[in-house]
Amino acid sequence: IDFEHCGFPETLNQNLKKSGYEVPTPIQMQMIPVGLLGRDILASADTGSGKTAAFLLPVITRTLFEDKTPSALILTPTRELAIQIERQAKELMSGLPRMKTVLLVGGLPLPPQLYRLRQHVKVIIATPGRLLDIIKQNSVALNSIKIVVVDEADTMLKMGFQQQVLDILENISDDCQTILVSATIPGGIEQLAGQLLHDPVRITT
Ligand code: AMP
Repeated sequence: IDFEHCGFPETLNQNLKKSGYEVPTPIQMQMIPVGLLGRDILASADTGSGKTAAFLLPVITRTLFEDKTPSALILTPTRELAIQIERQAKELMSGLPRMKTVLLVGGLPLPPQLYRLRQHVKVIIATPGRLLDIIKQNSVALNSIKIVVVDEADTMLKMGFQQQVLDILENISDDCQTILVSATIPGGIEQLAGQLLHDPVRITT
């Protein structure tokens, strides 16, 4: 595939060009069509493979015309990763209407995050601990979420976040599309995938 033939909005095609994305990477070639179809995905992909755009492009396309917010949730293990994902998301979403993001991450003050969250944000990018705190204080409703990404799932397990991820996803509708991305797929990830994914398409590079 080619980015031009994915049926992306023209603004998104221009943003891809501006960011220097000419040719999709192998993981993007596999993940984008399946992601656009709404299927659950279990992808093994490492940093540097282009995995972030591989899940962001379906996230953006599938939530662009959603009125109910928030519509997408991206979970990642660390604040630094969350910031990088938001940076790429902002680049790709530039000029698209109503595509706001919020970072819900630990180590930064909570009130500005809660304030931003109330501005009809489309995409939440979060670390598990901070998001669970916000869920527990009833400051976010996740029933409008249509697509969830669990990024760096193997790191999540290593950092002991498995139960937190499961607790968060308890708050999300069962018919939500879920994309699990992990550098490697050991037994623990297979088990997590079994708990979170419905009939997933498996993707490796
Ligand atoms: P990631 O594996 O998601 O951490 O991405 C690694 C880097 O590759 C990021 O800086 C992206 O901006 C860049 N990138 C992702 N996809 C493409 C592409 N199709 N063409 C050129 N650069 C890309």
